[in-house]
Amino acid sequence: QQEESPKQGIFDSSPVANPNAMNVIVVAAECAPWSKTGGLGDVVGELPKALARRGHRVMVVAPKYGNYAEPKGVGVLKRYKVDGQDLEVTYYHAYIDCVDFVFIDSPVFRHIENDIYGGNRRDILKRMVLLCRAAVEVPWHIPCGGVCYGDGNLVFIANDWHTSLLPVYLKAYYRDMGLMKYARCVLVIHNIAYQGRGPVDDFSLVDLPDHYLDLFKFYDPVGGEHFNIFAAGLKTADRVVTVSHGYAWELKTPEGGWGLHEIISDNDWKFRGIVNGISTESWNPNSDVYLTSDGYTNFSLETLQLGKAQCKAALQRELGLPVLGDVPIIAFIGRLDYQKGVDLIAEARPWLVGQDLQIVMLGTGRRDLEDMIRGIESAHRDKARAWIGFSVKMAHRITAGADILLMPSRFEPCGLNQLYAMMYGTVPVVHSVGGLRDTVQQFDPLNDVGLGWTFERAEANRMIQALQHCLDTYRNHKKSWERLQVRGMIQDLSWDNAAQRYEEVLIAAKYQW
Ligand code: ADP
Repeated sequence: QQEESPKQGIFDSSPVANPNAMNVIVVAAECAPWSKTGGLGDVVGELPKALARRGHRVMVVAPKYGNYAEPKGVGVLKRYKVDGQDLEVTYYHAYIDCVDFVFIDSPVFRHIENDIYGGNRRDILKRMVLLCRAAVEVPWHIPCGGVCYGDGNLVFIANDWHTSLLPVYLKAYYRDMGLMKYARCVLVIHNIAYQGRGPVDDFSLVDLPDHYLDLFKFYDPVGGEHFNIFAAGLKTADRVVTVSHGYAWELKTPEGGWGLHEIISDNDWKFRGIVNGISTESWNPNSDVYLTSDGYTNFSLETLQLGKAQCKAALQRELGLPVLGDVPIIAFIGRLDYQKGVDLIAEARPWLVGQDLQIVMLGTGRRDLEDMIRGIESAHRDKARAWIGFSVKMAHRITAGADILLMPSRFEPCGLNQLYAMMYGTVPVVHSVGGLRDTVQQFDPLNDVGLGWTFERAEANRMIQALQHCLDTYRNHKKSWERLQVRGMIQDLSWDNAAQRYEEVLIAAKYQW
């Protein structure tokens, strides 16, 4: 029974009574499991459920890119003007885990599920305009369980530049006109590197009154004078959140803010860092559905050593690597781009392949980097594997079977893979930046504390040094290694902690504290 009964209102549908219960609408360009290119999709799939567990009435609004099984059409049709064209949208709804998932259907979103940020700049911008224009009115038009959310006790959570137009539309079309007076908007920065930049002429595409142009006009030495959607969203949102404390700090520096550091500093009063949680359901070695076949096995703290050894052997077999229990597997999982520092692995290649270890890399992205990791595999078939593509199954299996997860990211707003790794007894070795700095405490053998190894600069020789220390512990200090694994696994990385922090921000936005 997935549909809620039509009579359900905000309090009686809530699992717990929360005196601060609100209507919360999370709007994003991606939402796992339906659409995901990275961490944003995971967050949008999980944070709403955790907020619902705290007693809020929560909806997610995202585009409908493909044919999804659960959501059903709700029979509402609306038209929005985008770039002079009347675009028709319809809506699909599913009620899952106490969250209303509303998908916006339009020809502009269809059949791009494998390339949701693809196409030319103008087309991408038009899609985001349509998403935001339609999303603001969802609480008026879309009955969820028979009852629309309304705008009385409402906070939107917009995410990244894609939905940064939402707070601007909320102001320009509604609040400036005396409508949606009590609705607020929190904007979450998952990655400041993508800002929706374009020529100032792009203003004509967003369909706003002329006096709004100044919000978007932005100058920096790299881009000159340009149109910047993230800038407008950051200025207009009632509160701004980013996905770790480390990243919150970096965003205010010229290097970390990618040109927007001054706007973020100017708005410091409304800015907060909250480390992402993870789904303890899908990323749980004890119940992981991808570990139930092909020789893999579920494991827990109690069965860690045996279970992990079995997963490692299964991974080596599946990838056609020599099945050697004592040889450490170093894994890399992620988008192949400048951010993730994959090129440092290429630079460290001579050292890496000289060691008695195996390297497994899963990723997709820049063609030259795909070729680069393919090249490592073909030159060293006895110890390296490159899996080019986006495979959730392989991400789980590698996380379970590897001993070490390497994340040499140049910058990393939060990073999820290091969190998943720790849940599976896989020890992270990371560049100490952003969320990696927050979540991976450097191992200290004297006091037997810490969760992995960190290196202070995104440089190959620093990474090699950290790996050397890590491998030494793996090979020569088995007991220390096992305690490291256990410390990683017993952490509470669930969304429930993070949701409580988000609730504080929602309350601050609502009452304008
Ligand atoms: P980002 O959002 O910058 O890409 P995160 O570490 O926050 O990085 O999140 C990445 C998410 O995407 C994780 O869930 C990770 O497992 C997943 N992921 C990245 N690349 C792949 C891939 N090639 N195949 C499967 N999952 C991937």
